Amino acid sequence: MTSLDDLPIRDDLRGREPYGAPQRTVKVALNVNENSHGVPEDVAHDIVRQVAEAILTIHRYPDREFTVLRERLAGYLGHGLSAANIWAANGSNEVTQQVLQAFGGPGRSVLGFPPTYSMHSILAGATGTEWVEGRRDEGFRISPETVVAEIDRTRPDIVFLCAPNNPTGTGVPLETIAAAYDAFDGMVFVDEAYAEFMPSGAPSALTLLPDRPRLMVSRTMSKAFAFAGARVGYLASDPAVADALRLVRLPYHLSALTQAAAIAALGHADEMLGMVEEIKVQRDRLMAELPGLGYSPWPSEANFVLFGGVADPHATWQHLLDHDVLVRDLGIPNTLRVSAGTESETTAFLAALSGADGALGARS
Ligand SMILES: *Cc1c(COP(=O)(O)O)cnc(C)c1O
Repeated sequence: MTSLDDLPIRDDLRGREPYGAPQRTVKVALNVNENSHGVPEDVAHDIVRQVAEAILTIHRYPDREFTVLRERLAGYLGHGLSAANIWAANGSNEVTQQVLQAFGGPGRSVLGFPPTYSMHSILAGATGTEWVEGRRDEGFRISPETVVAEIDRTRPDIVFLCAPNNPTGTGVPLETIAAAYDAFDGMVFVDEAYAEFMPSGAPSALTLLPDRPRLMVSRTMSKAFAFAGARVGYLASDPAVADALRLVRLPYHLSALTQAAAIAALGHADEMLGMVEEIKVQRDRLMAELPGLGYSPWPSEANFVLFGGVADPHATWQHLLDHDVLVRDLGIPNTLRVSAGTESETTAFLAALSGADGALGARS
């Protein structure tokens, strides 16, 4: 049998690892920050109706400019944005890849701040863009001074900021994003996959878009919108950025079925987002209850919590799996990450963890 090493693949891909969150069938899946609440049934029926209608013209290529979808996404975001400010693709991962294809590539670099979303460095590698690691402040924060110092030190072409950051849940102040923008002439990409879970009233980087044509803010329907399986992510920016992404996208990259499903779901935004507040309650419950079990959670503005004080993360991960609860071990020493689930899922996780006996903290 042939192994990967026998094939004449690109030298810069040799030895790399693919994205690898384990996919297991378990009762309580809290490992990839999905919305654990399903799509409401009446919304599902309306989506199916609109997808069925799209199938009647499926012999034709879809609207390459996905104009209606861009109008609806602009309407959903508000902030005075219009269709010209919006780009979309099959998940924000594809948007990120297109951004790197257009603004990165061989001979260019992107500055990221680990620990952060693993796909950012994987997509950098896949597009031949050098991934440069910046240093965070205490508590995984990034101050305006720190972001400027790291840009001065590494001179990147693109800066990636994940706000709130996956896997730590840490928010990024708007002052940090604005300072990064002013510190160099490159592109600033803010991944706001978890924006809807931020504290109410916390401003989005969307508010910084006016007069900042090198700023891009990406969002996804995968998390708050409970639409991970549909693969829809999008980006808000100056219209010129969309023109850059048109140079690298595949023609007709968003299928007619995807467009129809996303447009239908956006017509029910209030219902689709109905569970966000409840998930935030469970997220806050995790932060409140983990210390009592001997663990130390980091403050989270997203739908998951990273907690420290785990003596042997793999052993605890396995213990939880044995109790039908799947969480994420990201290889950060003495930590695990858990998504906020429904109330009963969160209860099941806390109950299983309390039997794990794996906390470093003094627990008697
Ligand atoms: C989950 C996640 C995404 C979502 O990616 P999609 O391709 O839209 O499903 C993007 N960015 C971050 C930081 C994430 O955690």
